[in-house]
Amino acid sequence: MDFESYIRDIEDFPKPGVMFKDITPLLKDPLALTKACDALMKSLNGLKIDKVVGVDSRGFIFAPMLAAKLDAGFIPVRKKGKLPYETISESYELEYGTDVLEMHTDAIQKGDRVLVHDDVLATGGTASAVCKLVEQLGGEVIQCNFLIQLTFLKGADKLNGYPIESLLKY
Ligand code: IMP
Repeated sequence: MDFESYIRDIEDFPKPGVMFKDITPLLKDPLALTKACDALMKSLNGLKIDKVVGVDSRGFIFAPMLAAKLDAGFIPVRKKGKLPYETISESYELEYGTDVLEMHTDAIQKGDRVLVHDDVLATGGTASAVCKLVEQLGGEVIQCNFLIQLTFLKGADKLNGYPIESLLKY
């Protein structure tokens, strides 16, 4: 499927100079939504996964769908102050600003095989912080997957060593 035709470019969002990749046209289309989920599943190639970690907030769209298909649990990683129970945290640099990500201390068991999912890989700061959270709790990052990888921002360099899959590369 031509996923690219379902991605909308929004100029100067959320601030001037940023070309934002908007995935909502893909989400709105029933066939594109299903095919995107199937394609992310296929890129896992049958690997066994215990937990799918989704990143606040657009990572929360596909991560639970993938978790259900994988017979795995879904773990939310959220911006600082949003999770109700005890947390661990990692600070990270975003394409626009810096922030802190948190995960519940009981989210991952030692030895869990983890898939990290987000909508977009840009500079890699976010995904790299999420991988550190997983590893703090003794989980093993098996793959990081994304709908979109902005290759010119070299996010893959920050995810040194982790297998990366994306449906679309720009
Ligand atoms: P990074 O930390 O620079 O890799 O940025 C990735 C994070 O920023 C992800 O959580 C994305 O949701 C968000 N992001 C960055 N650029 C875009 C974009 O063009 N469209 C949608 N989300 C984006």
